[in-house]
Amino acid sequence: MQALVFNGTRDVVVTEVPDARVERPTDVLVRVTSTNICGSDLHMYEGRTTLEPGRVLGHENLGEVIEIGSAVDRIRVGDMVCLPFNIACGHCKNCEAQLTGFCLTVNPGTAGAAYGFAGMGPYNGGQAELLRVPYGDFNCLRLPADAKEKENDYVMLSDIFPTGWHATELAGMRPGESVVVYGAGPVGLMCAYSAMIKGASKVMVVDRHPDRLRLAEKIGCIPIDDSKGSPVEQVLDRTAGEGADRGCECVGYQAHDAQGQERPNLTMNNLVMSVRPTGGIGVVGVFLPDDPGAADDMTRRGEFPFDMGHFWFKGQKIGTGQANVKTYNRRLRNLIHTGRAKPSFIVSHELPLNEAPEGYRHFDARDEGWTKVVLHPDG
Ligand code: NAD
Ligand code: ZN
Repeated sequence: MQALVFNGTRDVVVTEVPDARVERPTDVLVRVTSTNICGSDLHMYEGRTTLEPGRVLGHENLGEVIEIGSAVDRIRVGDMVCLPFNIACGHCKNCEAQLTGFCLTVNPGTAGAAYGFAGMGPYNGGQAELLRVPYGDFNCLRLPADAKEKENDYVMLSDIFPTGWHATELAGMRPGESVVVYGAGPVGLMCAYSAMIKGASKVMVVDRHPDRLRLAEKIGCIPIDDSKGSPVEQVLDRTAGEGADRGCECVGYQAHDAQGQERPNLTMNNLVMSVRPTGGIGVVGVFLPDDPGAADDMTRRGEFPFDMGHFWFKGQKIGTGQANVKTYNRRLRNLIHTGRAKPSFIVSHELPLNEAPEGYRHFDARDEGWTKVVLHPDG
């Protein structure tokens, strides 16, 4: 089959690899029809993490079931399914508590697994013609009859729509509250969109890319351009000096300041200062432990100064981690099905698989207008 394979830092190629196949009785085999490039793929692409060359990337996948293992009894051949990026067994202590991002079975020794991801198990990704889905009955979300028509909406259920929603949950957001979101990438925009759907009184979105800020404004949020002045002061100005009730981190430790200088701790400390005393902070932007094998081990650190003093003194709360996609994706699927949510508003480019390296290059450069790339391996 054709697949997008990781070769090394900023080096991905589309090449022929052995077909994905049913390997265990509980597996499902999917013919991938949509698969996104994600900001999380850039942790590997930019060399912040160590990944062996040859691994197929892609954890935001949707497609048609073409084969099932002998122990699969809920999912059927022909079903259109969206695959949560978390691979989970469905039976361990964490899965039973709906914490599927931290499944204890699929990646022994640590927690949580994903398709095509460094440090998250040996699984191949879905930027390919075929994808093997372990524990298929648990890890497939069946889609309704409008699956084809709304494919660019439903594919966002694999990761970024539930992840954005998760950030608002981690922050403890309630209807009527004000929210500040750091980052207007795909995840930040999905977070801001979730806060709007959940009835926030005011959603402020911080970034410096005009095209991304325009999208935030289009969905009813207040764009905050941090190249025009301190984002903390701009948030305080818009919240009567109190700070926002809730804050969401949707950037991760690759954060830059508005001048382009790497500042892994910047968004965390800005959040502490722009959220009100006793407010909540949800962190879905990725912060990984220091990886000695990474291409750049000086600045991509797992440990960095965090303003614990202000955080403690303000009595704030914080929640972190991978999104447990399954906790939300049925409900978010229903919002899409009934027309209450249309997350495809962030899609800027749809490309065939063989143009994926171009998609990576532009998305990585944050080129104007390259907000979210959907790849279609079926052409
Ligand atoms: P992205 O890189 O496209 O977007 C990040 C945005 O943050 C960019 O627009 C950038 O300009 C902006 N930014 C950089 N520094 C900033 C700063 N100091 N203040 C404000 N904005 C700043 O990536 P994305 O796809 O939106 O993903 C964002 C993060 O979410 C990544 O770390 C990704 O790995 C993570 N993620 C986490 C989960 C999860 O389950 N927790 C799932 C998906 C993605
Ligand atoms: Zn993703």
